[in-house]
Amino acid sequence: MVQINSITNINNENTTDKAHSIFPPSSASRHLHCTPSFVMESMFPNETSEAAEEGTAAHALAEYKARIAFGYPVAERPVSEYDGEDLEDYTDMYVNLLKDIAARFNNPIVMLERVVHFDKFIPGGFGTADCIMISDDTLHIVDLKYGRVKVEAEDNDQMKVYAVGALQDFYAGFPNIKRVYVTVCQPRINNYETWSIDINDLYEWSNKILRPYGNMALAGAGELCEGSWCKYCKAKAFCSLKNKNALESISRLDLERKGNLMTPSEVAALLPIASEVSSWGSGLLDYAKKEAIENGTRWEGYKLIEGKKTRKFANTDAVVARAKEMGLEDGFVYSEPEVLSPSKLEKKVGKATFRDSFEELVSFSKPSLSLVPADDPHDEYIPEVKEEPKSA
Ligand code: SF4
Repeated sequence: MVQINSITNINNENTTDKAHSIFPPSSASRHLHCTPSFVMESMFPNETSEAAEEGTAAHALAEYKARIAFGYPVAERPVSEYDGEDLEDYTDMYVNLLKDIAARFNNPIVMLERVVHFDKFIPGGFGTADCIMISDDTLHIVDLKYGRVKVEAEDNDQMKVYAVGALQDFYAGFPNIKRVYVTVCQPRINNYETWSIDINDLYEWSNKILRPYGNMALAGAGELCEGSWCKYCKAKAFCSLKNKNALESISRLDLERKGNLMTPSEVAALLPIASEVSSWGSGLLDYAKKEAIENGTRWEGYKLIEGKKTRKFANTDAVVARAKEMGLEDGFVYSEPEVLSPSKLEKKVGKATFRDSFEELVSFSKPSLSLVPADDPHDEYIPEVKEEPKSA
């Protein structure tokens, strides 16, 4: 176990309900760059996704393991439908990283899932940092990211907001802090970037950017500004700038017609625009469909239709009873019992037995393939092709 310091009031007890953060640090980049997005997004419901649910499960297990590693009391081990080898390994990697960082410090204070307040800059502002360590002249923030899209540590607005909050809450007790380090822990893609900033530069950013733009965001003031932060904006489908720019991207297309078929280089030139336009278009279509289904909104020229219905029995006991009445033999309405899935069987027999006796019987379904920009962090898949690949 890593030796840690513990000081009254700098323990691991949080003081604010994390569910009601007014200015969520995770959206800070968007709301500071595009200030109207804060009020615009508040008009749309919060929707969860498979990735968000998985991230929440990973954070819960990571916190549980980190609490054990640093000697904090724990409640019951969290369980989720995402439990398995991957979740186990990735959360272990997070905890090992925390232990490595702590080992570099002199008797550090380690705080896990700690609420920090930055309301001196934005009224009501607070957020929850995954891990904060303080030792001598250093404040270190570590953030677990469970997604596969690379997150940069450098100049990361979310991490800077956590750091500002940590300084607001703890600087009085640790006036020697001079430098802030932030580390992104993204075990799924092996990204463990660290970046650092002098606290005077961080305060300058807080006064020049966080306070003025954060307050403009709360007031719904300022100009729309498109950028990478639009990706998870809830208002994207209805954003006038996003719509205007998508349409302008299409109208800028100036393909010189050389023949009936486009050349590979013409197709390659279109891919970034096609990807941007399709992401915007699918957001718009999803929103319009959801409005039509949930609120009965009628969109001129469009209607809802039903797809193919799949059949299933509402009450299987009634099916068995009916089969009996008809004199059908026992078991007539049952299919063969199914073999458990590899992950369920692995849980049942244990990893070692599974590896020794069943692993060789596992086959993998063909994964779906995606065409993504070349700087995507995933390994490239090279298909088997009959002819030499064409490059564009
Ligand atoms: S989509 Fe982009 S430009 Fe539009 S409101 Fe959201 S963040 Fe701002």
